[in-house]
Amino acid sequence: MPSTAIIGAGIGGIATAVRLAVAGHRVVVFEAQESFGGKMHQLELPGGYRFDGGPSLFTLPHLVDELFRLAGRRPADYFRYQRLDPITEYFFADGTRVTAWADEKKFAREVEEKLNVPAADVLAFLARSGRAYDATAGTFLQKSLHKAGTYLSPEVLKALAALPQLGLTSTMHQRHEAAFSDPRLVQLFDRFATYNGSDPYQAPATLSMIPHLEHGIGAFYPEGGIYAIAQSLVRLAEELGVEFRYNEPVREITTENGRVTGLRTDQDTYPFGQVVSNMDVVPTYRHLLPTQPAPERTLSQPRSSSALIFYWGIARRFSELGVHNIFFSEDYKREFEAIFQEQTVSSDPTVYVNITSGHTPTDAPEGHENWFVMVNVPHDQGQDWPALVAQTRAAVIRRVNRALGTDIGPLIWAEHVWDPPGIAARTSSFGGALYGSSSNNALAAFLRHPNFSRRLKGLYFCGGSVHPGGGIPLCLLSARIVSDLISN
Ligand code: FAD
Repeated sequence: MPSTAIIGAGIGGIATAVRLAVAGHRVVVFEAQESFGGKMHQLELPGGYRFDGGPSLFTLPHLVDELFRLAGRRPADYFRYQRLDPITEYFFADGTRVTAWADEKKFAREVEEKLNVPAADVLAFLARSGRAYDATAGTFLQKSLHKAGTYLSPEVLKALAALPQLGLTSTMHQRHEAAFSDPRLVQLFDRFATYNGSDPYQAPATLSMIPHLEHGIGAFYPEGGIYAIAQSLVRLAEELGVEFRYNEPVREITTENGRVTGLRTDQDTYPFGQVVSNMDVVPTYRHLLPTQPAPERTLSQPRSSSALIFYWGIARRFSELGVHNIFFSEDYKREFEAIFQEQTVSSDPTVYVNITSGHTPTDAPEGHENWFVMVNVPHDQGQDWPALVAQTRAAVIRRVNRALGTDIGPLIWAEHVWDPPGIAARTSSFGGALYGSSSNNALAAFLRHPNFSRRLKGLYFCGGSVHPGGGIPLCLLSARIVSDLISN
């Protein structure tokens, strides 16, 4: 029986464990923390508030279902979800409010009514976003870009040929400005760059396919919150015989004659035929393989943004808010310059508020709400985070107060803060970047680390810091690519 170790019980590691267990491997997952999930963890605050710690937006749910089916199980016996409608409530700095309905036509009519942009323009843009997704996703997200065989299929050659028209030479922002005359709608679509921690003023227009995920395919809400994804998959993995060893950080990947032989923890040294690192690729090389040559060019790619998150127990309900709420800043360009050029936080950042207690009433006491309040910030490079946290907290309260016409300050009954150094410490992500390397240049997809090592046989990589990138769906796809590479 082949034996495989996985370093890290993030969503990518858990999904890889399921796939390899189904393929007949003995799988052991080593996790540094006391429990699974990594960025996808949950937390509770005094007073009865529960929060999803990291991800809050869930798209492409079939990638989760697929794992249960692969194991011969009925997905709904483990994990249920519903399509969100509306998806997002947008609050613009000038006081305009737009609801992003799940139905594209209804959303387009809303935009026409509120922003005076013809509904037909919105529908044409979304259709183009869908075509770009269909033309490229199968190739660029679902296969290894680093195996010659990938480039032999006619489908892949077609996708490569389509790339120039999809916008490698212009930016997302330029694409949106060309499509819409209203700067608020440009801001709305520019925001999708942040879905992989990028800057719409630098990221290629190819990424304008991201809105299709939400508006074309749908945004979903898992019963019990996002943490239920990790929980249900760990249950499946355990049923399949996967062993999870918590509180056991891996210290070294052992090697001999150009292949991995296993790994070492503080408890023991373990032999394994394959090792899959779900840990960020930068610390994997720096800490677990210190004597091996590292792919320096790949590791030095610019990092994605990180986040400052305020978890607030709020002693009131706001009927005007939904699951996903965006309070836009006045100057979006300034905000991204602050993050990616000055490595700081703008004094007027856009604020994202996720509230799950409307769908999962046990997430907050009666009459209260659980607010996950997030601002995009640079990854940690030694900034004065206590000062930035204090400044940003005040700016968030100002912006939300202005939009809601109330003072939320006294309504904050419970609070916890997670900043980039905290994210790095809890998940080992380099600099606390949420999505590994950023997609701020046209070649980013090709510059991400492959899902395997070119130098060490038996060493593989999954998760948000390697191909195809960060975010739940892409981490799940990395697990599929890794298990295909191992099995074939
Ligand atoms: P990670 O979650 O990075 O976990 C890695 C695991 O490895 C951790 O458990 C860590 O403890 C463990 N580990 C590290 N080093 C060692 C070691 N030496 N030995 C043993 N174990 C080790 N994505 C979305 O799709 N939608 C969103 O809305 C969204 N929002 C986000 C908001 C926030 C605040 C954050 C933090 C992330 C967000 N993301 C979102 C991104 C998404 O959460 C990640 O891309 C994804 O969860 C990363 O999973 P992963 O498989 O890379 O593993």
